[in-house]
Amino acid sequence: MRTNRFMPEFKTAGELHDLQLKGLQWTVSHAYNGSPLYRKKLSDAGVAPGDIKSLDDLRRLPFTTGDDLQEGYPFPLLSVPFDRVVRIHASSGTTGKRKVLCYTQKDIDDWAHIFARCYEMAELTLEDRVQIAVGYGVWTAGVGFQLGCEKYGAMAVPAGPGNMDMQCQFLVDFQSTVVCCTASMGLLLAEEVNRRGLRDQINVKKMIFGSERSSEAMRARIRELLGIEHMFDIPGMTELYGPGTGLDCVHHTGIHYWADYYILETVDPETLEPTPEGGIGEMVVTTLRKEGVPLIRYRTRDLTRILPGECPCGSPLPRHDRLLGRTDDMIIFRGVNIYPRMIDKILSGTEGISCEYQIVLDRRSDGRDYMTVKAERDQNVDGSQNEALSRKIAEQIKHSILVSADVEVVNYGSLPRSERKSKRVFDNRD
Ligand SMILES: [Zn+2]
Repeated sequence: MRTNRFMPEFKTAGELHDLQLKGLQWTVSHAYNGSPLYRKKLSDAGVAPGDIKSLDDLRRLPFTTGDDLQEGYPFPLLSVPFDRVVRIHASSGTTGKRKVLCYTQKDIDDWAHIFARCYEMAELTLEDRVQIAVGYGVWTAGVGFQLGCEKYGAMAVPAGPGNMDMQCQFLVDFQSTVVCCTASMGLLLAEEVNRRGLRDQINVKKMIFGSERSSEAMRARIRELLGIEHMFDIPGMTELYGPGTGLDCVHHTGIHYWADYYILETVDPETLEPTPEGGIGEMVVTTLRKEGVPLIRYRTRDLTRILPGECPCGSPLPRHDRLLGRTDDMIIFRGVNIYPRMIDKILSGTEGISCEYQIVLDRRSDGRDYMTVKAERDQNVDGSQNEALSRKIAEQIKHSILVSADVEVVNYGSLPRSERKSKRVFDNRD
């Protein structure tokens, strides 16, 4: 049995507009009155709570950044008294201090609600069994997958990450129908199921990938190995509740995001001006009902674009594209801005190439920068094809990114795989 309990109440763009305006007014007033840092930022920008009269006033608000969160360590931008805080989560910040976020009970309830909406968007039924193979703890949000699953009413199997023996056993014994994991782990699990000859004994129909975007080639490989029906990318960040801030529907035309919980803008990361309609830019979010740590124009460093038009599913929830990389993933190579995603796309579209790759950047003795792309050959293609494949890929890179790269085709399985996010860019320049 499927349910329809977690979708938004608004039906039209006008209704969404009113809801967002009310939420924005509440958020600005709540942050101004609750957090000295927000009050200062807003005052410096010349904004007082009563000034928000329309959604256009969003542009008048100052940006919030990861630095604001780190400077306020350990409880940055907290906008409620401590007696209302029921939980914290932290992001594992790779640079500097970690970001710690405080949640009220309402924030936790809201998170569970929108996470349940993700499962509803993925058309789960109450009979589904959801193997949650992501980390639990302060850093990551296995607990979000779990709360959402229970709220939705499916059966949660809180497996945690790694441990392939146990994962495979659970898939067989519990007949899990849905697996939530990183895309890298999904591939590893699919290969493991295949290696052990378990495919006929398992019942996985859907996979939900968190925290790392999956390439087309990875998805194709997983589909081939497991024969599953749907794969979804679940976006999210600790700053904005955690994973579960949107999901693609079964038409897979982009990610429906929860515009009744936050406003999404895209801006040019250099000029901070809004990108032209449909253009790629940095994702900036403003929450509409978050109490513990509301976000006002928070710069996420993720790149995406807002997709125009309506989805065939008819949902009034707007869509953004899959995350196209991080603003800080950008490689500047011989004066050209390159996102790893662009290389990924070329490799995914090349027949005979698998989904693992590495990009290596070196500065050689002639003082110039060189890029080497290492790509794995497909399992069923033999080594005699290496030269033709590398030539083809190098031509594609030259043609679509306008740079020259040395392409090295390597044996299937020779590049390292990880259960977590795989490191794919190695910049050895100074
Ligand atoms: Zn849709």
